[in-house]
Amino acid sequence: MRNAYIDFSKMDCTVVALVSDMFVDGKPLVGYGFNSNGRYNATAILEERILPRLLNAPGEDLLDENGELSPEKAWSLMMRDEKPGGHGERSVAVGVMDMALHDLAAKAAGVPLYRWISDHYGDGDPDSDVFVYAAGGYYAPGKTLADLQAEMRGFLDGGYEVVKMKIGGAGLDEDLRRIEAVLQVLDGDGGRLMVDANGKFDLDTALEYGRAIDGYGLFWYEEAGDPLDYRLNAVLSESYANPVATGENLFSLQDARNLIRYGGMRPDRDFIQVDPALSYGLTEYRRVLDMLKRHGWSSRRCVPHGGHQFSLHIAAALKLGGNESYPGEFQPTGGFTDDAVITGGRVAPGDLPGIGLEGKADFHKVLRNLHS
Ligand SMILES: [Mg+2]
Repeated sequence: MRNAYIDFSKMDCTVVALVSDMFVDGKPLVGYGFNSNGRYNATAILEERILPRLLNAPGEDLLDENGELSPEKAWSLMMRDEKPGGHGERSVAVGVMDMALHDLAAKAAGVPLYRWISDHYGDGDPDSDVFVYAAGGYYAPGKTLADLQAEMRGFLDGGYEVVKMKIGGAGLDEDLRRIEAVLQVLDGDGGRLMVDANGKFDLDTALEYGRAIDGYGLFWYEEAGDPLDYRLNAVLSESYANPVATGENLFSLQDARNLIRYGGMRPDRDFIQVDPALSYGLTEYRRVLDMLKRHGWSSRRCVPHGGHQFSLHIAAALKLGGNESYPGEFQPTGGFTDDAVITGGRVAPGDLPGIGLEGKADFHKVLRNLHS
């Protein structure tokens, strides 16, 4: 499958099992991490820089004042001797380890990750479930409008109420036909449809599409132009009245802050999609949330990219606006636990200790093979 920018057939990822010297029922506790879709594996950087720093550190340097594993302290060790800037080069590698460390910390406490995050970083009162939307509507050879409609009907049958489709991989006329076809499935309700251009458009094209689709009243218009072209986003936001969304290709606090400073993002309607797994993990994501708060943004305007179980826990614990979901895509890493039920467009993170990847049978098989 492909979006407006890339073909996914060669996409791979890094998976990590962090085997600890903590034992429960005679078995070592293991933290799992993986990188979210959209960026390739970061294994070489992990093996050559990030892991040696972590593994060579004295054990006590990884503990907080209560003697418990501190993912935040581990983060600082992993980033030792890294210059500022150039975040995308290593943010995936650090994100994979940050995820594994949080999985391990929550397992050591014997609680699901959302509970651990809420108790350590939140208000102790996490959301019980999270808004999720179904992302699909990719371009594929031979895929007809009827196929696209059938795909979207399948999402609705699966319990989703809001769906997302790709644009920008065809001309405007064809994309408008595709949008109208999906709107038919949604009873004409544009507020249940998002469109995603994956950063493809120059300013003129972004504005042209904006004029063509504004009247549909869509849920959001995603990543119209290059993720680092803040001025394009700002100019688009001056004329496009409905919400825009972007941020899945920003990998640091500094990049997200530039989006807020220069990207014309409107805190009363727009959405921030930074994906914690791709951008240095939860440790950095908390800094992004703090920055947004200082700029007058609610955490409810954050809906992370990626459709994975890690962000689902973060969304529930830190009261985000929701989480992406890719029903059936990016397997086995993507998606939620096998027993997760989407009802009314919402899903609960589940109560397995840690992230709960043990509840994803196909993925757990892969992860277990890393250490047994
Ligand atoms: Mg996107």
